Amino acid sequence: AANGINAIETDLAELIIQLAGESSSHILVPAIHKNRAEIRELFLSKLEVDSLTDAPNELANAARAHLRRKFLSTPVAISGVNFAVAETGTVCVVESEGNGRMCVTLPRVLISVMGVEKVIPSWQDLEVFLQLLPRSSTGERMNPYTSLWTGVSQGDGPQEFHLVLLDNGRTQVLTDTVGRQSLNCIRFSACLNICPVYERVGGHAYNSVYPGPIGAILTPQLVGIENASSLPYASSLCGACYEVCPVKINIPEVLIYLRGRAVRYKQRSRSLRTRLNPESVAMRLMARTFASRKLYEQAQRLAQLGQLPFQHGDVIDALPGPMGRWTAMRDLRPVPRQSFRDWWRSRQAAHDASEEVRS
Ligand code: SF4
Repeated sequence: AANGINAIETDLAELIIQLAGESSSHILVPAIHKNRAEIRELFLSKLEVDSLTDAPNELANAARAHLRRKFLSTPVAISGVNFAVAETGTVCVVESEGNGRMCVTLPRVLISVMGVEKVIPSWQDLEVFLQLLPRSSTGERMNPYTSLWTGVSQGDGPQEFHLVLLDNGRTQVLTDTVGRQSLNCIRFSACLNICPVYERVGGHAYNSVYPGPIGAILTPQLVGIENASSLPYASSLCGACYEVCPVKINIPEVLIYLRGRAVRYKQRSRSLRTRLNPESVAMRLMARTFASRKLYEQAQRLAQLGQLPFQHGDVIDALPGPMGRWTAMRDLRPVPRQSFRDWWRSRQAAHDASEEVRS
């Protein structure tokens, strides 16, 4: 803007959030958080329209008229890329409004920005993805607009074409044997639509370009775990995302792996505040206790005694301090009076005693 360049979003939902000065809340439906009445208000204040109802066709027509004027006067378009076929150097954009088709055909110069992971080997592979993609996103058998182009054609469409290959951390992700599967994502949001956490909190809560389960594993890897260490925890690990993902990214596996990286990052941090964080202290104590049989058995005996004031029948239903937040929602099972090891030892002793009597 400082250089007199005005970038205008052409996808209807992207246009809505650009006019509202907001950010996207869904990969496929970026303005899903706005209702028709809000969009009407927005269009009345930002587009050149005199009157408008909140009927979907009127709203779409207002945006169409606005965008058509821009398409016909804009010298340069910038598009994304869904796939690139290595066999012939062909670039593919898949969309449902026709704005992408206008972008890649009307302006004189076309710049396409493509993440390096979008390259697929052959047309045969493209055939699979073009079927997979609409069926696992909007449930359509085919998406409405598929634009394919290979360089420029004299006298037809843009006369200058630039392809920008975007790495932005992707090759680093590729070196990670667990995290690299995230690069298989075709960004068609089946995991967002099924995720119970996304359903409750919405896309903005992730504070990431990619919300939902895929954002929770991709963003920490692209921007560094130190800048998004809470994202891998934005999941109940129910596994629904893995079940619906058309390219079979094991999202729960990557989430757990990234939680491990987040913990190790915090452990490496030498600040006193991080080291004295109650959770870190508790985890360090637990790790030490679980690593030693003697300590583990002593801790069991301590817990058997310590729980007595809070135990009512077969449950612990009110713990003091921060642990009270847990028992406010659900009961805890008490540590049993006899552990498996105690039982085994007494069984062994009884067996040895009966052997002695027999001999
Ligand atoms: S992770 Fe799988 S389900 Fe989620 S957007 Fe990517 S391809 Fe779709």
